[in-house]
Amino acid sequence: MNTENTLKQKRYFIATYGCQMNEHDSEKLAGMLSNMNYLECDNKEEADLIIFNTCCVRENAELKVYGNLGQLKALKKKKPDMIIAVCGCMMQQAHVVEYIKKKHPFVDLIFGTHNLHNFPVLLSNCKQSESMLVEVWDEEGEIIEGLPSVRKYGLKAFVTIMYGCNNFCTYCIVPYTRGRERSRDPEEILKEIKELVENGTKEVTLLGQNVNSYGKSLEEDIDFGGLLRRINEIDGLERIRFMTSHPKDISENLIFAIRDCEKVCEHIHLPVQAGSDNILKVMNRKYTREQYLKLVNDAKVAVPGISVTTDIIVGFPGETEEDFEDTLDLVKEVKYDNSFTFIYSIRKGTPAAEMEEQVPEDVKHNRFNRLLEVLNKGVAERNSELKNKVVEVLVEGVSKNDENVLTGRTRTNKVVNFDGSKDLIGKLCNIKITKPRTFSLFGELVDK
Ligand code: SAM
Ligand code: SF4
Repeated sequence: MNTENTLKQKRYFIATYGCQMNEHDSEKLAGMLSNMNYLECDNKEEADLIIFNTCCVRENAELKVYGNLGQLKALKKKKPDMIIAVCGCMMQQAHVVEYIKKKHPFVDLIFGTHNLHNFPVLLSNCKQSESMLVEVWDEEGEIIEGLPSVRKYGLKAFVTIMYGCNNFCTYCIVPYTRGRERSRDPEEILKEIKELVENGTKEVTLLGQNVNSYGKSLEEDIDFGGLLRRINEIDGLERIRFMTSHPKDISENLIFAIRDCEKVCEHIHLPVQAGSDNILKVMNRKYTREQYLKLVNDAKVAVPGISVTTDIIVGFPGETEEDFEDTLDLVKEVKYDNSFTFIYSIRKGTPAAEMEEQVPEDVKHNRFNRLLEVLNKGVAERNSELKNKVVEVLVEGVSKNDENVLTGRTRTNKVVNFDGSKDLIGKLCNIKITKPRTFSLFGELVDK
């Protein structure tokens, strides 16, 4: 492409908030924009098109979007032809769209999660429209296959295997913004992964809100364990990861698939959310503390060395000190390898938002800090078990802090740093762990 042509190309900037699902949706937006001859840029000032792909799982994420949108007002005044688009989960809520129309009328385009595939048409219509264009579909349609995407990181790729969620945990907005559970056709998933592998991908992470219920909406008789076994057959693929697994739907078949398939990594993300049966019940999680602990134990017995990570919410309405201590006890017992911890955030439209006995903010923060302390202690203990052990690491690049240090992940999803030459990037290396720390491990190259 000549320089003159490059200069004429329009540039886009995407800011992505929230989970891997959103990151992957942004990759699809980037793919569609690349087909429209747009170039990515890394600052808003240079962009002809700015997209905010939003998340609404917690209030903080929403406030950040509003704050960042407000900052665009001056830029839009300076560059009136620049297009500002806002999409993603937040837009599936009518009160959010109304708020943006009122407070940020300079936004040009609003669209939702169910009509992302229609973005090229929306963008074209928006360019011809004098006023803000809003198109948010209330209901999900058919799954749209074959959307182009520009992957952020070639060695590793996200592959969505299902959309939506049927579980309606009482605190969670996702079922309202992402719609009902729909599984992708296994042939489409296999085709996508084979293409990725042909283009250099070594590791895929299969995404879904509850991957264990994969297949329920399909005519074909296939479950998640069966899908893993088929993906495991793909030549050239080295590693398979997946998230998230809902504890209520974990089957023996899945645990055996992790055990039997050599490409499936020994790691399970198993959000517990709370350690008290009272709270689990009001959260509508559909398992008890005892059932959860049995699952963790079964997984550890069937797959020795498996790492277990989790999500925990503190300060759910009605959570007493005793309930919280049940969570602390469970965390001590499991000794997680890692965790995402959240302070309960009221989400309008969910049953928990209407519950009495909301926990005061200072109590939530205090519990959050106490929980982190116990979690980190467990993580440090688990990591110290790896001292002098040799682990397989997929080398992802150089460390952010020191360009002579390489960084990668173990099959159990732990970050490992070690000294080595850049030609190891993209390779699987055996590394002896010499210094295990809480948030990363340091090691030495044993062989390639
Ligand atoms: N589907 C996954 C599952 O059930 O484990 C998780 C999806 S959700 C986007 C990610 C995490 O956000 C949840 O596991 C939960 O811990 C947290 N979360 C969801 N709603 C929340 C809320 N209202 N307040 C605080 N944390 C919340
Ligand atoms: Fe939300 Fe529960 Fe569905 Fe996860 S399983 S997305 S927490 S409703």
